[in-house]
Amino acid sequence: MSVSVDAACQATTAPLPVLGHDVTVPLVTGGEVTYAALDYAASAPALQRVWDDVAAYAPYYGSVHRGAGYLSQLSTDLFENSRVAVAEFLGCRADDQVVFTRSTTDSLNLLAAVLPAGCEVFVFETEHHASLLPWRDARVTYLDAPRTPAEAVAALERALAARAGDGPALVCVTGASNVTGELWPVRELAAAAHAHGARIVLDAAQLAPHHPVSVTDLDVDWVAFSGHKLYAPFGSGVLAGRADWLQAAEPYLAGGGASRTVGRRADGGVDVEWHTTAARHEAGSPNVIGVYAIAAACKALTEAGFDRLVAREQRLVARVREGLAEVPAVRVLSLFGDDAPRVGVISFVVEGWNSSHFAAALSAEYGIGVRDGLFCAHPLVRTLLGSDPQTQGECGSPEAAPGEKSLNAIRVSFGAGTPDEHVERFVGAVKELVTEGARWNYRTVDGRCVPAV
Ligand code: PLP
Repeated sequence: MSVSVDAACQATTAPLPVLGHDVTVPLVTGGEVTYAALDYAASAPALQRVWDDVAAYAPYYGSVHRGAGYLSQLSTDLFENSRVAVAEFLGCRADDQVVFTRSTTDSLNLLAAVLPAGCEVFVFETEHHASLLPWRDARVTYLDAPRTPAEAVAALERALAARAGDGPALVCVTGASNVTGELWPVRELAAAAHAHGARIVLDAAQLAPHHPVSVTDLDVDWVAFSGHKLYAPFGSGVLAGRADWLQAAEPYLAGGGASRTVGRRADGGVDVEWHTTAARHEAGSPNVIGVYAIAAACKALTEAGFDRLVAREQRLVARVREGLAEVPAVRVLSLFGDDAPRVGVISFVVEGWNSSHFAAALSAEYGIGVRDGLFCAHPLVRTLLGSDPQTQGECGSPEAAPGEKSLNAIRVSFGAGTPDEHVERFVGAVKELVTEGARWNYRTVDGRCVPAV
């Protein structure tokens, strides 16, 4: 039976069952409550379907690419079929390669390692550190935080037009911000990059779990994402896209699996012929469980109907934003403004509260798991906070007094496994904490704000 987008949008239960939905946690104030996991942007819970598929495969687990035995052949087939499933999920071109990595960070570091000589890199300062930092051997232009999507495109156009010569260039951009949840104008940035002879890689760590991604439609050259944010927490990631730079470069890791043949030379050294497939960058025994889990998640999201997942998530986004807007002390962080399209990732500060203290109280008194800090996007969060602290605030240190700038922020994030109740509990808790204050004392231990026992 198919479910209409409208009906799915109204559903108050999570559209996709996840593990941990019935886990209870203790409250400092007494009793227990089911855990409200609202930190999907860090790591999403595993889809039940992913877990079931992995459990069904586990007895058949065997070595990949090497063994002659039946289970090795089965595992190799599953591994290679997972590549096909991921390519389909990402709408890849026929000649794209899907390389399995450990994570988005690993994928972008792999791309950084295969940049052609002299490649220039263009990246906005607003990126997650995984996109901001891997380009250590390239000449990098860091673009200032734009205040509208159009400004982002114009800034990139200007920077690319100003580059000397027409050597290789790469633009790295996120699809959805891990701080504001706002969508970036990926298609337009890709067109600008290509118009200036540059290539573009999409950091889809936050986009892929919330939104269909099509390499072909967006016309990006590569896309990177992580399994653990896509409901497949088994330590694997993906870099998919153009084969030429990948195959022209030395392997990311040297070792078995990446090499086709190895022989001794007359001079005593060794000669290596490397693979020219994705295997070139997958040396070592691959994480077949992690890869299979990603493929299972891709299939589950597609089969559930991404448009109905998006529609329901958008209703939750609207509910959280409405609820926060009713609390005058709350300021939601945004780069592109209220009307910008966004996914279920929302960061905010509360006047008069240290964010770590607020997050600790949400956990200890309401059983709600959010994240506090600068979210591995320090330049962006500091720009949004209007502060430039060298250190993060601690809950034991003086809280930001009314009118003072916050040192860090709180992030709430959710997705296909989130029931309405978690969002309602969160909105109610924010209101109650702001109006009535915390019911417990907190102190800093090892840099974390925790309830004082
Ligand atoms: N890019 C973005 C936008 C992210 O939000 C994250 C993680 O939070 C990453 C990259 C890095 O992902 P991973 O830690 O899985 O490598």
